[in-house]
Amino acid sequence: MALKIQEIKEKGFEKVLFAEDSQSGLSAIIAIHNTNLGPACGGIRMLPYASTNEALNDVLRLAKGMSYKSALAGINFGGGKSVIIGNPAEKSPPLFHAFGDFLDTFKGKYIAAKDMNIDSSDLALVKQKCRHVLGVEGEPGTSGDPSPVTALGVFRALEATVEFLTGSRKVNGLKVAVQGIGHVGYSLAEYVKKSGGELWVTDTNMKTVEKAQKELGARFVPLEEIYDLDCDIFAPCARGAVLNESTIPRLKFKAVVGAANNQLATPQDGIRLHERKILYAPDYAVNSGGIINIFIESKGYDRNQALSKTDEIYRTMREVFDRSKKTGRPTFEVADQLAEERLYGKK
Ligand code: NAD
Repeated sequence: MALKIQEIKEKGFEKVLFAEDSQSGLSAIIAIHNTNLGPACGGIRMLPYASTNEALNDVLRLAKGMSYKSALAGINFGGGKSVIIGNPAEKSPPLFHAFGDFLDTFKGKYIAAKDMNIDSSDLALVKQKCRHVLGVEGEPGTSGDPSPVTALGVFRALEATVEFLTGSRKVNGLKVAVQGIGHVGYSLAEYVKKSGGELWVTDTNMKTVEKAQKELGARFVPLEEIYDLDCDIFAPCARGAVLNESTIPRLKFKAVVGAANNQLATPQDGIRLHERKILYAPDYAVNSGGIINIFIESKGYDRNQALSKTDEIYRTMREVFDRSKKTGRPTFEVADQLAEERLYGKK
């Protein structure tokens, strides 16, 4: 092995290391943003970044996001993330073994899990070299697919939103539009259906749309038309940046509550929603069921504990909305402020 590790000094981050291994071809960065609350935890993402700088910007943004997500979820994890610079089609056991050696140098201060283009078999290879890995599906004691837990959290956030708007937690009779009915979106749609809500769905995959039509009585809406629907709730569960300067003026929804990461294209879009009086449930609070599930795994997995901790997203969301109402500040800013209070002990 010829692993070369180099430190990158970044203001506001505890530790950022860049590693290269000439034998396996590994080129990776691990960033720890903050460990005030506990060991940093976050997924490994593999992408063919155009440059090391692009990878560095991504890993820093994601690691900081994990600090905020865990802090707001009330779990004792810090924020960290890692990126492997490379083509996911060229994955190999030596690559993940070299990554495992790199990870091991953190001595448990950063715990790795899955993210984009990384599956459980890749994680299992990493784990052969370093034990600080969580979420290897199929292994005894692991938490398994996080999507149903994430979907429960999104539904709790939806209930908090509805209660804030109407005074009642009931979803019955509400019109909900789900963008992307994949792992999380479909499960969310099931909760809505079970609670008596009406569903509109869109997806690039027509098979899953047909299933939702048949099983959940959902109505199909073409991809681009979802932004123009006359429904109560918009649930983005596909991709980021869908709330932007061209979509927001079209929205007639009363609120946005969905699982997708980074729904706001820019912070200005959070202000745009606020000005249009469309209640935005901050995405990283809504979708924290996944990291909660992993946190419970780190303590010895107990499904009931994972679900009951995820139920608390309802209370967090109410706190965000109530403070936003009291201060007149946009919800995304309030969520950041609450996370920072826990992270830096400013309570
Ligand atoms: P998924 O890939 O299972 O589902 C995404 C769905 O969106 C797919 O059915 C896909 O066909 C569809 N889609 C893709 N592009 C689309 C488009 N332009 N318009 C409409 N539909 C489109 O992913 P998932 O695990 O359900 O996650 C959904 C979102 O939630 C992602 O943004 C993910 O990062 C985020 N998230 C997921 C979890 C989790 O536990 N799975 C946790 C936190 C955040």
